[in-house]
Amino acid sequence: MQTYQNLLEVLKKKFNFSYFHDNNKNNEILLRHDIHLQDIKNAYKMIKVEKELGIKATYFVQYNIPQESSNVTYQQKYIEFINYCINNNIEVQPHISPISGAFHSDSSLSKEIKDIEKIKTNYVLNRVGNYDEFIIIDDFLEIDKLNKKIIEYLTNYNKEWEEKFGFYPKGMSVHGDMNFPKIVDGLNNKTLMNQKCFADIYSYIDRSHIISDRFNYISDTQYNINLFYPEKFKENSYQILIHPAQWSGVKFKKLQNMGLH
Ligand SMILES: [Zn+2]
Repeated sequence: MQTYQNLLEVLKKKFNFSYFHDNNKNNEILLRHDIHLQDIKNAYKMIKVEKELGIKATYFVQYNIPQESSNVTYQQKYIEFINYCINNNIEVQPHISPISGAFHSDSSLSKEIKDIEKIKTNYVLNRVGNYDEFIIIDDFLEIDKLNKKIIEYLTNYNKEWEEKFGFYPKGMSVHGDMNFPKIVDGLNNKTLMNQKCFADIYSYIDRSHIISDRFNYISDTQYNINLFYPEKFKENSYQILIHPAQWSGVKFKKLQNMGLH
């Protein structure tokens, strides 16, 4: 946690930390945590560090995704964490994969979702204003049907969240889905959720153009080296993604021993 604390202490000298829904200005950082089960333990520690430094962060929690929903022990841990955030005035929102949600709820959706080559040739990414669209040659994925299913899934999910936690989610961060293609500059988790038809569901989505055009994205997923050198943050504004579990354990210790701390 010392490395994390050091990062925040240095960044705090130059940047203001904001929430995604704030009206952001320059020199701003959106500090974001994606919380899967394995992240919960370190997340409590990170909250403590942030509180002591007076830094705003948003915790996106993977509560009740279809793959885990039948595991009561898992869900209990998520619920406890979300309630902890609410009781301690920490911004908390969902971290879900709307696409796998839709596929779980409708088995009639196309099974060819894994055919990357076919998707590449038939769905060409086309940005229009702040949103993504696709120029479609053969619509074998039935994208309108998929979009409707996603909207239905998110609407139900958000209602459930509201009943359980007493507030309707303002925003969400998209969890990468193993079963969905990661085609760079093509159809992928992020571009699919950037379509205009989802704009009314949340006031923000983590990687939308509205956010990513203004905030340089930096993530600890591949141990982005800059996270160990906070003095290298030269741009005006950043979105920083933290997976708390990444900040301890064998791999992390190895990096620290190499002098990156
Ligand atoms: Zn995730």
